[in-house]
Amino acid sequence: MKARPTRSKAGAARAPQRTKGQSARVAQRTKAPLLHDASPRAQRRPARGAAPAALLHGEARIVLRPGKEKSLLRRHPWVYASAVARLEGTPASGATVPVVADDGRFLAWAAYSPASTIRARAWTFEESARVDAGLLAARVHAAVQRRAGLAAASSALRLVFGEADALPGLIVDRYGPQLVTQFQSAGVDAHRDVLIAALREATGCGDVYDRSDGATRTREGLPAIAGVLAGAEPPEHIEVTEHGLRFLVDVRRGHKTGYYVDQRDNRRLVRSLVEERAAAGAALRGLNCFCYTGGFSIAMLAGGAAAVHSIDSSADALAMAARHVALNGLDAQRAVWEEADVFTALRALKAAGAQFDVIVLDPPKFASSHHHVERAARAYKDINLNALRLLAPGGSLLTFSCSGAIDTDLFQKIVAGAVIDADVEAWMVARLSAGEDHPLLMTVPESEYLKGLHLVRAA
Ligand code: SAH
Repeated sequence: MKARPTRSKAGAARAPQRTKGQSARVAQRTKAPLLHDASPRAQRRPARGAAPAALLHGEARIVLRPGKEKSLLRRHPWVYASAVARLEGTPASGATVPVVADDGRFLAWAAYSPASTIRARAWTFEESARVDAGLLAARVHAAVQRRAGLAAASSALRLVFGEADALPGLIVDRYGPQLVTQFQSAGVDAHRDVLIAALREATGCGDVYDRSDGATRTREGLPAIAGVLAGAEPPEHIEVTEHGLRFLVDVRRGHKTGYYVDQRDNRRLVRSLVEERAAAGAALRGLNCFCYTGGFSIAMLAGGAAAVHSIDSSADALAMAARHVALNGLDAQRAVWEEADVFTALRALKAAGAQFDVIVLDPPKFASSHHHVERAARAYKDINLNALRLLAPGGSLLTFSCSGAIDTDLFQKIVAGAVIDADVEAWMVARLSAGEDHPLLMTVPESEYLKGLHLVRAA
């Protein structure tokens, strides 16, 4: 799933996606169905209300085409429209329906998504399980519990990561006392109230803001919505602490849910790389391309960089980035913020004879689907080639792709092509990924959207 839905497209140099009039409360939804839940945890929980008829479809079911049961048997939760032989009954969007094989064998209880190419997402592969408030609440509690150890590192965390937490389509980020949600599938959308109640209970956070305004919902046939779901209107900026550094997050107007929590550990890595070299006496020059609110730039400055040049096409993001320098007590003289298109800015820096010791490339998603892989590959090649031309001997390039459609091997090949064309010698010293709060469920490899390479140029 990578969906970094609000990053703008390659070369588009767009301002961050903004949504207007987001303060309106999101309409109350129908409650989730309550049948019975086989899980012991759920049995201890009180029932949260009766199921509306629309979500109870005893007679509805999805019958797969012959041979199309394989992926569900391997516990992969997605049922593509092309795998469906027929839909029996008339389930509502998001209703829980059984999915059966061609021979009638039970495969999964799944959420029906009438408008999506992923026509259903499995909640459970256990026939005896019941998808009700208890089961969903237990999953929310488990997801929150799994991240309990990360709270010391950061007050900005992904608490729920969709499929990886058995809640397909649900994203929940926590910024201090504030929760921010994205309901990206019909299934989780139909169970909003139960999920919100469980999140508030599991975290003790009363304030929940919804940012269900990404492109993913459009593909699900769901309207783009945003607003307060529970508690108070969020403040203009929420301050978070990440590995000791302070950042402001605008959950209403920022990208995604406001901040890129997924790069937390890579920002720390960059800081320690700079620290090592600065400790050795180097006057280190950093370049942060697609800097957004300056996460990697602040990490470099905090690590002791002599100068950090940061580029983004969004003036608002850059203004926030500049505020982060003062917020962290760093020297503003060492930071240059350039509002520009990275594709052209890299060429201009080369023409000016610039060189950098640490370069970060963290672009938006260039490939939004498999159809765009070739065009995206050219864009990745271009920025990597031009960044390598600016990399000083012995320098580090940390290059990322958050396009789910481009896997690690392909990304590595693209970057290798850039190394050849740049005519430099370089090693890959590490493969990088999103942090521990974005775990990869082994049965759902598609969840691995963010991949990175750490290259070191020969001295
Ligand atoms: N590294 C950041 C996240 C980057 S998000 C962090 O750690 O927080 C991608 C950023 O690329 C966004 O801020 C977006 O405004 C910017 N962007 C998109 N296309 C661009 C382009 N062609 N040139 C410059 N910036 C661009």
